[in-house]
Amino acid sequence: CLRSSVGVAEFTPVTWERIGGLEEVKLKLRQSVEWPMKFPEAFVRLGVCRARGVLLYGPPGCAKTTLVKAAASSSHCSFLTLSGAELYSPYVGDSEKALAQLFCQARACSPSIVFLDEIDSMVGCRDNGGGCRGSSVQAQVLSVLLNELDGVGFKPAERRGTGQSERDWRTREDQRMQLQEVCNQDVMIVAATNRPDMLDSALLRPGRFDHIIYVPPPDLQARLNILQLHTEKMPLKSDVCLQDLATRTDLFSGADLENLCKEAALLALHEEGMSVSAVQQKHFQKVLQNFQPSLSPQQI
Ligand code: ATP
Repeated sequence: CLRSSVGVAEFTPVTWERIGGLEEVKLKLRQSVEWPMKFPEAFVRLGVCRARGVLLYGPPGCAKTTLVKAAASSSHCSFLTLSGAELYSPYVGDSEKALAQLFCQARACSPSIVFLDEIDSMVGCRDNGGGCRGSSVQAQVLSVLLNELDGVGFKPAERRGTGQSERDWRTREDQRMQLQEVCNQDVMIVAATNRPDMLDSALLRPGRFDHIIYVPPPDLQARLNILQLHTEKMPLKSDVCLQDLATRTDLFSGADLENLCKEAALLALHEEGMSVSAVQQKHFQKVLQNFQPSLSPQQI
């Protein structure tokens, strides 16, 4: 039996503008996920194959999940999600069956995005010496996923005959059939990991996760954007200098910056009382004194 949280996920829609920095990543994700979902006809017309799977990798707390939610929101498609921890939860039962069932559900409510978080903990790795490093269940889960990556997605129809010109090949009938195929099987698999080195190389072969996108930690400008976004609804005293805070938050992930803002507001309530009207620079500074950023210099 599937736990109710495994499957179609409900979440507050996220717009691309709510994600600070990461302009290049956002563009790549729009091209590989949003455009084929929103404009399948254009992809068929130009004979472009869309990616079967997209893999996001990078340090924790730097917006991988938020980016996928933004892609699902802007594509107006169903969003189904599963993490490694959920898949192996005792409530789920047979993990490989749960994963197969998730894909069945995704096809039933397509167009859809299946988001596999912490994919490294979901599947085993058979590289570096014969057997699967993980359990036999992980090996079975890997096999289900490989089958899905091979079966899901849009394969353009084979060119018929050899004497046909490019123009002849793309007849209206071909396009109609391809479009039908796209609409029937419109399931995009997006996965995220902090440990791409732990992934079985079979997943990374062409035709599977063919778009691999690095989501970097925020640089100075991105940190400023993130601080602006997370203080948007927070009244700030005029002494608050977000530029200064951005400079002093090297090694902070986006999640750390969000926490910093929340903690500063809580400290303002604690120190000034419940009638406090705005957060001051000193509140941010005090929080910063004891804040351990979650990134290490190696991750930058
Ligand atoms: P993990 O690898 O731990 O799953 P993640 O990379 O998927 O983390 P998210 O879950 O997307 O990170 O982000 C965590 C929180 O940090 C979110 O609530 C999000 O609002 C905030 N955050 C992270 N990066 C950004 C960003 N660039 N702009 C705005 N908010 C951000």
